[in-house]
Amino acid sequence: MAATAEVTLFDKIVAGDIPCTKVYEDDEALAFRDIAPAAPTHVVVVPKNRAGLTHLHKMSKEHRALVGHLMFVASEVARQEGLADDGYRIVINDGAAAGQTVFHLHIHVIGGRSLTWPPG
Ligand code: 5GP
Repeated sequence: MAATAEVTLFDKIVAGDIPCTKVYEDDEALAFRDIAPAAPTHVVVVPKNRAGLTHLHKMSKEHRALVGHLMFVASEVARQEGLADDGYRIVINDGAAAGQTVFHLHIHVIGGRSLTWPPG
């Protein structure tokens, strides 16, 4: 599962070429604070090797372990950030109409305030 050739903003963050505030890291994933937080806590979880996953809808069976791991990391971040008791939201924006701006699969972990539903 090779990454697509195009280098994304999140590739540069993973490589350390763009600084970030890390909150979690392991061999497969990195989580860091969003530069424009939508809530008091807003963390982005990214795969270090996106393995072709510019979008969630590019997912195939071969990606199940990776995407499952990203979900684990999102839940770990929520616990670590103290969000789990009050509740929080995870978001994947899949495509421009959903607000996706960085085409490297990522999960937003958002919390620290009451969140409205439906989202905008
Ligand atoms: P998307 O809109 O694609 O779902 O999410 C991309 C997120 O990346 C946005 O919430 C945006 O604020 C965040 N972001 C964009 N550039 C940077 C950056 O240079 N550093 C960090 N930490 N976050 C960024």
